[in-house]
Amino acid sequence: MINAFARQAEQAGFGEIMSPIFEDIGVFKRLGESTDVVTKEMFDFFDKGDPPQHLALRPELTASVCRAFAEHRPTPAWKVWYEGPQFRYEQPQAGRYRQFTQVGVETLGTDDPQADVDTVVLGWRFYQSLGLREVTLLINSLGDANCRPAYLAALQAYLSSNALGLSPQSQATLERNPLRVLDSKRPEDEAVIAGAPLMVDFLSDETAEHFAAVRAGLDQLGIPYELSPRLVRGLDYYTRTTFEFAAEALTSAQNAVGGGGRYDGLVEALGGPPTPGIGFALGVDRILLACDAEGVFADEESTVKVFVVDVTETNEALRICEELRAAGLGADRAYDGRSMKAQMKVADRSGARFAVIVGDDELAAGEVTVRDLRGDGGQQRVPNHQLVATIAQAVGSVT
Ligand code: AMP
Repeated sequence: MINAFARQAEQAGFGEIMSPIFEDIGVFKRLGESTDVVTKEMFDFFDKGDPPQHLALRPELTASVCRAFAEHRPTPAWKVWYEGPQFRYEQPQAGRYRQFTQVGVETLGTDDPQADVDTVVLGWRFYQSLGLREVTLLINSLGDANCRPAYLAALQAYLSSNALGLSPQSQATLERNPLRVLDSKRPEDEAVIAGAPLMVDFLSDETAEHFAAVRAGLDQLGIPYELSPRLVRGLDYYTRTTFEFAAEALTSAQNAVGGGGRYDGLVEALGGPPTPGIGFALGVDRILLACDAEGVFADEESTVKVFVVDVTETNEALRICEELRAAGLGADRAYDGRSMKAQMKVADRSGARFAVIVGDDELAAGEVTVRDLRGDGGQQRVPNHQLVATIAQAVGSVT
């Protein structure tokens, strides 16, 4: 999957960046002091220096890419892709882990809305190329430093006057970051959130124009999307275009398989020149869950072709497995002299196409019974010396 992503990113002009697994914690703190990822979920530690340096495992890669830009000053537009593990001290659950893998891209040094479109389309095409058909693209504009303050003030005023209708958790979030209240999926918050003012109604002319150009680009390329005026996303640094990919096949609350947006102030916050940027990160673990949920991968043909069921309490299973394997035919068996029924159960689970059964009858006759575990379930007796040829021919004819 990562190779497929790499190919598509390189075809679109992105080069690979390999950034360190841990960095000075200050790099990640620039992501915003009201971001959960920074305040609650960082794996941080002190090194052995004198004085010790405060470091953290990376929770995401956008900050590291911006740090690298500020440090090395490559010529914009700088387009990079990455893959690798990220770390967040979250409550583990289905699709939410403390170590997970992301692939992503970042484009620094342009605020051209066509760069936004290119970015979104790269993500969209990647899911399509994997065979996923139930991914929804949600987009929104979060405004910029000029128009967001007025919106935040209106939102704060609205939420504060309706605080009693919010869950205790959302009341606490309201203190830290009113925008994140919109992210709540708790049913008790639904009514208040539904009536909250929307950022789209506060966009400046310039930001509205930028957002319209992004949508026009997506329309032109025939990329389906839903406008999602309450999409805020977990990280505070986003400005203007924000988007998320939701896998409808995942029933859990964790159905976001990727997301991203613009972060026009982040490079500057990390000590670089004012530099706009746009990118996304896709969650590889969750994409795999979505692929399973949509059944996009064909069942893999098992390497074990034969499962030997031996109830004679002799060394027949040893001998037969050895003979089949030596002939290049995958074979497995059960141990501990278990009952016929127990061994057949294991055979069914093994993925093998055939069971080779040896009972006292077969042993006395110098034969085995070959049973088809799929297909019509038919079986036949075969002399020992013809077993390898019989299986080789049968496997050849069924694969
Ligand atoms: P973010 O960096 O929070 O914008 O997340 C981007 C994507 O990474 C999400 O849409 C998820 O697919 C994935 N992701 C984020 N956090 C986790 C996690 N704790 N476990 C698994 N995947 C995650």
